[in-house]
Amino acid sequence: MNPSRTFDAKLHDAGSIAAQGKCSHHASAGEGVGPCAGEAVVSFQDRDGRWQSGCSLALEQLVEKGEIEPLGQGA
Ligand SMILES: [Zn+2]
Repeated sequence: MNPSRTFDAKLHDAGSIAAQGKCSHHASAGEGVGPCAGEAVVSFQDRDGRWQSGCSLALEQLVEKGEIEPLGQGA
């Protein structure tokens, strides 16, 4: 399970989708969902250790899949 925290633009590369406060999770999913209109609420590390951003829906989905820790519930 990967670490997550409240969205912080400083964690992301300047100029990236995430740094603009958008959801990079859905933007990179490439499953015909198109650009995600959601605002990023969470920053998390993916399997490659890169920081990604997610909207509230992405947060829900990723937590459900056990990919990231639920926000604010870190032990
Ligand atoms: Zn999204």
